[in-house]
Amino acid sequence: MPSYTAPDYVLKRPRTRIVCTLGPATASDEMIDDLIQAGMSVARLNLSHGSPEDHTEAIARVRERSERAGVAVAVLADLPGPKHRLGSAPDADSGAEIVLEVGQRYMLRDGNGTSTNEVGYVHPPGFVSSTPAGADVLIADGAIRLSVKQARQNEIECEVTVGGPIQSDKAVSAPGHASRISYLTEETGEALAMAASQHVDYVGISYIRSAADVRLVRDFFAARDFHPELIAKIELAESMDNLNAIIDASDGVMVARGDLGVELPIALVPGSQKTIIRRANEVGKVVITATQMLESMINAPTPTRAEVTDVANAILDGTDAIMLSAETSVGQYPAVATAVMAEVALEAEKTLNRREIADRRRTGIQGLDSAIADAAVSTAVSVDAKVILAFTESGSTAGRVAGFRPGVPIIVITPDSAVGRGLALRWGVMVITAPRPRSIDEMFRQGSQIALDSGLVKEKERAVAVIGVPIGVHGSTNLLRVIDLPEPNLES
Ligand code: PEP
Repeated sequence: MPSYTAPDYVLKRPRTRIVCTLGPATASDEMIDDLIQAGMSVARLNLSHGSPEDHTEAIARVRERSERAGVAVAVLADLPGPKHRLGSAPDADSGAEIVLEVGQRYMLRDGNGTSTNEVGYVHPPGFVSSTPAGADVLIADGAIRLSVKQARQNEIECEVTVGGPIQSDKAVSAPGHASRISYLTEETGEALAMAASQHVDYVGISYIRSAADVRLVRDFFAARDFHPELIAKIELAESMDNLNAIIDASDGVMVARGDLGVELPIALVPGSQKTIIRRANEVGKVVITATQMLESMINAPTPTRAEVTDVANAILDGTDAIMLSAETSVGQYPAVATAVMAEVALEAEKTLNRREIADRRRTGIQGLDSAIADAAVSTAVSVDAKVILAFTESGSTAGRVAGFRPGVPIIVITPDSAVGRGLALRWGVMVITAPRPRSIDEMFRQGSQIALDSGLVKEKERAVAVIGVPIGVHGSTNLLRVIDLPEPNLES
């Protein structure tokens, strides 16, 4: 049997997963290697920025470098979503830049025309009809703010409350009045097609309003026989209102604090984070906590105390993954920021109340798979096992074990590397890709060897294994076994 070992830096990683957003600062082989070594499990591409060529190149690079390193790194493509944007506007170089002054009146109309000193055009159409008098309008995520004084059939008349330059294509939103346009805007349709053609592992669904938006995306992909994990980004007041249904329809969820802090009063962000994480924990779905986690590290090699505390608190709240955005996409210290996250996570995990998170999961427990996963975690404690081995065809078994937050590493053994990447956001999981065994006995021996090769457990120690029989059938976890290592070969 070949030897199955993971690099030392993978064995020493925190159980919390790290998502790094790629961009110009990380567009080289060396930077991707550094991020992988520092702890990146998922590379995120924000499809609202950059060209399709940039994204395709970044995906190819991540795949090549992770293959070379022998470390599973998944790709998350983040969709633009149903956003309204300003039409074109003269830029600063033209000498005709439009700068809004506080107190001035400004009209907004549906359309794709060129903005002037009096009127800004918003596309796709539908913004004017969904924005009533009294609403606040944010341009460029709040860099410019307007207050709607009068809503007419074809335009809204606004007063500028925070001024600034009007620039082409900047996002326009009205907090509390989510856009009513179809989720599949032209921009999002192009991004979905790109995600499908590249076979990314995860798709981030931005500005989701309801479970129907998730279904629309799932159906779009299913029609192309493509089935990525769908991560619902909670960033609107409406997505908080529909939280449970959205989480049920998705494979995971993101606390997208950037937009959430714009769309909701900012003081509601910490409580919303806890609510989202708790619900995801209850139903065993992965949750990523995102945005401004180490923001000062865009320009500095060390974080602030407040940022480090924020990262640790997200972990103590029960998040599976933590995310870096501008820190790694355009920042000066992408690998240092990733290493800081890993270091903070390792420390926070020492005081994580794993029992409380497992108890949350028990409140939402359903089905035989979950019962076996729960039993595996408590059996590992009772028999002093040093690892849990999860043999999986679809990934669901390993995902379920992670939901109960075991105190020992979960080694996932799968014949399918794509299944391994689909587990890249799962707390505490280490994936080994190995050929499918021909018998259950061979499976135990393979698991025994992989456990020993990992160095996480020694001979005469124990592993707990969860398996589905018959082998090769998806979603059939039904067997729990304690293995005294090494498993003897009784067939020879
Ligand atoms: C966010 O708003 O926090 C977020 C992650 O989304 P984006 O980076 O696409 O704005």
